[in-house]
Parts: sequence; C-alpha cells; structure tokens
Amino acid sequence: MHELSLMEAVREQVLEQARLHAARRIDVITLRIGSLAGVEPEALRFAFEVVMAGSIAADARLQIERVPAVAFCDCCQGEFALDDGLWECPCCGGLSRQLRRGRELQLASLQLT
Ligand SMILES: [Zn+2]
Repeated sequence: MHELSLMEAVREQVLEQARLHAARRIDVITLRIGSLAGVEPEALRFAFEVVMAGSIAADARLQIERVPAVAFCDCCQGEFALDDGLWECPCCGGLSRQLRRGRELQLASLQLT
C-alpha cells in the first residue's frame, strides 16, 4: 500500500524534528494533502496507526488539511477551482494545463512535548 511507505517517510521526518527539539513525545501531526495527491484519508489513518506504533508518536493525533485543487488560466491570468478534475476555465472556457495547488503531500506542522 502506497500510504504505508508515505507514512514511513513522514515518521522519519517527525522523529528527526522531535530529536532536534529534544521532545519526549509527539502530540499532533498535521499533514497537508492536495485533493489530487492520490491518497485516501482513511488508508492514511490506518497507515498512521501501523507505522507510528512503538515510537514516541504512537499516541499522536493525526490531522489532515485538505487542499482543494486549483488551476491557472493563461488567458484570464486567473486561478480557478478544479471541480471534479474539470480543467476548463469557468471564465473563458479555455483549457488549463497549469496546476497551482492540489498535489501537495507534506508535513504542515507538529506539536511536541
Ligand atoms: Zn480563462
């Protein structure tokens, strides 16, 4: 499962941060996930439980910040929301190939003790 390897990478990052800050425990982990990132929040939560078990992040709460996909229209020089993956600009009807937001998958913040 792709979510497991992803969560393993998150664990490396958070444990590294915890070490740098001499934290005893990780309380909250917030991830920022774009709507086109291709991960299922449910699968991610399951992977979180499995991967964090036995570490100082075992009791941490996972928060997921969803980022809606947004594309940019060259013609209108404006951004528009990608509803249902439709790449058509609502203003001029042109097709956009520039994704501005929506594929992110990153650590947004951490709360340590
Ligand atoms: Zn347009």
